[in-house]
Amino acid sequence: MGQPLYRGVIERYRTCLPVGRSTPVITLLEGNTPLLRAPRLARWLDLPEDGLWLKVEGMNPTGSFKDRGMTLAVSKALEAGAKGVLCASTGNTAASAAAYAARAGLRCAVLLPEGGVASGKLAAALMHGATVLSVRGNFDLALDLAQKAAQEAGWTLVNSVNPFRIQGQKTAAFEVIEALGRAPDFQFMPVGNAGNITAYWLGYREWHAALKKGLPRMMGWQAKGAAPLVLGRPVARPRTLASAIRIGRPASWSGAVKAKEESGGMIGAVSDAEIVSAWRRLAREEGVFCEPASAAGLAGLIRYAESGVFHRMDASRRKGVKVVCVLTGHGLKDPDTPTTLPFRQRTLEADPGAVRRALRSAR
Ligand SMILES: *Cc1c(COP(=O)(O)O)cnc(C)c1O
Repeated sequence: MGQPLYRGVIERYRTCLPVGRSTPVITLLEGNTPLLRAPRLARWLDLPEDGLWLKVEGMNPTGSFKDRGMTLAVSKALEAGAKGVLCASTGNTAASAAAYAARAGLRCAVLLPEGGVASGKLAAALMHGATVLSVRGNFDLALDLAQKAAQEAGWTLVNSVNPFRIQGQKTAAFEVIEALGRAPDFQFMPVGNAGNITAYWLGYREWHAALKKGLPRMMGWQAKGAAPLVLGRPVARPRTLASAIRIGRPASWSGAVKAKEESGGMIGAVSDAEIVSAWRRLAREEGVFCEPASAAGLAGLIRYAESGVFHRMDASRRKGVKVVCVLTGHGLKDPDTPTTLPFRQRTLEADPGAVRRALRSAR
C-alpha cells in the first residue's frame, strides 16, 4: 500500500476550512508545494545553511499561490449556484480563476489593466476560455469595476476580498509549519493587494492556537513606486516593473497592518533595481526562476540581512534561526521581462571551431 493520494488543499485541510459535505470540490491538486532549502543564499546572508527556506508557490497548477484560494472560492461559488465568476487581476488571479472556472463549468470574466499583464498570464486566461476585458486604467480601477459588475450581474467576485480566497490561502502557512516542524522565526514575502500576508497570518495564528507551533515575524515588501502601506496612503499611479504587485490601494490594507503589528514584523519597500538583483541572484545561485514580484520578498530579506541583524545575533540563537521566503509565482509566466536585461547571447556559424572558441571564454 502506498501513501494515500494527494487530493488538493480542500481535502487535505477540510476540517480547518468552511466546506460542508455537500460542497462540490473543484480542484487541480493545488498546494503541497516544495519548501526548498537555499544554502548558498543563506551563507551569503549570514544565516546557517539550513536557515533559509523557499516556499515555491510557482509549483501550483497555474503557476501561482492564487490557486490555493481559487479552489475554495470557485467551489463555494458553484455550491451557491453562481451564474459565473469575475475578477480584476494583474494576471495571476485571472489565470487561476479561468482555470478553476473551466474545471467547474462556470463562466468566467477577467478585468485586466491594459498593457499591465505578463504574457503567460494573459495566454492562460485566454486558453481557459475566460472573457478577457482590458480596462483603460490600473488594477485599482479594474477592481472597483469588477466589484460593481459582480453585484449587478449576480456573478461571484473571486478577488481576495472574497473571504474564501483568504481561507484557502492560509493553508500555505500550515504546510510551512508541517515542513519545518514549527513556525519560522521570520517570513519574508511580497505584498500587493495584501490578501496573501493576511492569509498567512491567519494560518499561523490558527495553528499556533491549536498546536503551539510558534509565530513568525511577518516581513512584507512592496515595490517603491507602489508602496501605499509604507507611505500610509493610497498611490494613485503605482509604478514598478513587478506587475503582480503594481497596486496602489490594497483591498486587505487592514489585514496587512494587523499581520505586521501583531507579529512584531514590518512592511518595507524595495526599489526595482533591488528586486531585479534579488531575482537574478536567486535564479543563478539556487536554480529557482520566480517572477519579478516574487523576488520583492527576497530583496527585502537581502536589505534586512545587510543591516547586520543576523550577523549581530548571538551564535547560539543564529544557529537555530529559520527564515522562510515566499516565492509567489513562476518565472515562466513572465518571459518578457528577462529579455529587457543586458544578457549576452551569441550567434555562431555552424562550425566546431567556433563552438570550441566560445567555450574557452565561457564563465
Ligand atoms: C497576487 C500576487 C502577489 C501579491 O499578493 P497579494 O495577496 O495581492 O498581496 C505577489 N506575487 C505574485 C506572483 C502574485 O500573483
